[in-house]
Amino acid sequence: MSIEISKEDSEYMYNLVKRIVDEVGPRMPCSPQEAEGANIIKEELAKCCDEVSLESFKCHPKAFLGWIKMIVIIVPISMISYLLMQLASEMIWLTVFSIISFVLVLLSLVIMWEEFFNYREFIDRLFRKKPSQNVVGKFKAQQKEGEKIIIFSSHIDSALQFNLLKVLKWGFLPLAFGAILIILIWLILSTINLTLMIIGFIDLKSTFFLPTIWLLIIGSPCYVSLFFFVPSGEKGNIVPGAVDNLSSCSVIVGLGRYLKQHRDIIPENTEIRLISFGCEESGLRGAFRYASAHLDELKKKNTVVFNMDGLETPDQFLVIEYEPTTRTKHSEEVVNKILRAAEMSNVNAKKFGAGKLEKTVGRLSGGSDAAAFSKAGIKAGFLNSADWKTRSSYYHQSTDTPDKIRKGTLENALRICLTFIFNEIDNR
Ligand SMILES: [Zn+2]
Repeated sequence: MSIEISKEDSEYMYNLVKRIVDEVGPRMPCSPQEAEGANIIKEELAKCCDEVSLESFKCHPKAFLGWIKMIVIIVPISMISYLLMQLASEMIWLTVFSIISFVLVLLSLVIMWEEFFNYREFIDRLFRKKPSQNVVGKFKAQQKEGEKIIIFSSHIDSALQFNLLKVLKWGFLPLAFGAILIILIWLILSTINLTLMIIGFIDLKSTFFLPTIWLLIIGSPCYVSLFFFVPSGEKGNIVPGAVDNLSSCSVIVGLGRYLKQHRDIIPENTEIRLISFGCEESGLRGAFRYASAHLDELKKKNTVVFNMDGLETPDQFLVIEYEPTTRTKHSEEVVNKILRAAEMSNVNAKKFGAGKLEKTVGRLSGGSDAAAFSKAGIKAGFLNSADWKTRSSYYHQSTDTPDKIRKGTLENALRICLTFIFNEIDNR
């Protein structure tokens, strides 16, 4: 079974990507361009859905990557405070420098852990608050009894340019892992030093002098380059975000257009929601806001979330079952349903995320909007499609242009979504 996508629908999806790139351009989180992009999606969804709404929210968009700049300054200061200890001889000063050094490195680790590995808004209040929005289109259930919700989601914002990726390609990964390793080693040394000072072994104040110098020397290239990881202010807003993630936004609208013509494939007790979130690139803030604002309803109506992001190639679809950065496992049921829909549509797809290499590299690859739902206890799955040989040439860079979406990709993603809905027939 392979659902026929008309030439008109197919062209519509690619043209929508092109239109938003041409008319609006890069759409960093909370920018006027992000709002403009959201309005276009809203207008297009309004032509096919029963109801469309724009849900505004506020967040601190610069905090999510802003922590990097903070800790690459704090960690060297922590090391320098240890080195300054060598100038002191009195117990009180030795203890003060040891405590400052230890607290600073510990604080850096906690900031990184909370902001990046848990996507929590730990230091967000230090950054400016700005408005953003989620666009939500609905095909209402015809029968209210035993009502269910299926959400198909994407994100409208585009990333800030990742300078290091542009220059080093995947070579930036060892640099980032190296910086984290140095912080961990320094935390251990700093803890031992503080313990020695507190229990009175002040003669051992120089024990880690040379290792600290070496950590500073080896760490400098990591910290200096990570300081420039993303440009500051508006300068980073140069990523057109065609693959990431207008590709999925246009599949969402394409899905709406198809469902308007073929409403009969929607089970009567099922509401379909088509959502484009804001601020995914700022730590999934739009998806987190939506999940918490609607949590009771989503849980009550046995909601399933089918999230899409980064659709590049028609024949290498990935159904992400595990996101290593936030240690989030997606619903086995949803993952298997997406795989089954792909198989029935004759589209090549495989499970991804839980293998050894994927878990290691994926530690630093970040999360998807699906994680905001899985973490809240809503069943979710995540569809991606990547050619790893080409992805580093445009991912989060100014080269993420419409031509990077290969012919047939959006049609295949749409087929998977439609078959996913069609398979709900068993539950009608
Ligand atoms: Zn994305």
